[in-house]
Amino acid sequence: MILKNLFIEKCPKCKDMLVNKSNTLTAQVIKSCPKGHYEKEFHPALESYVEIYLT
Ligand SMILES: [Zn+2]
Repeated sequence: MILKNLFIEKCPKCKDMLVNKSNTLTAQVIKSCPKGHYEKEFHPALESYVEIYLT
């Protein structure tokens, strides 16, 4: 379910698809709006996302 959500998430402001900025070296999973409105990062230790609104 988490993986599915990763790929369908859109920016809450402009509805653009989030761009994958995941860091393969650190295994961080980061998705962000291509226009810089919104970013979210999955924290495996917390088993949840940290959402960042950049507006
Ligand atoms: Zn946006």
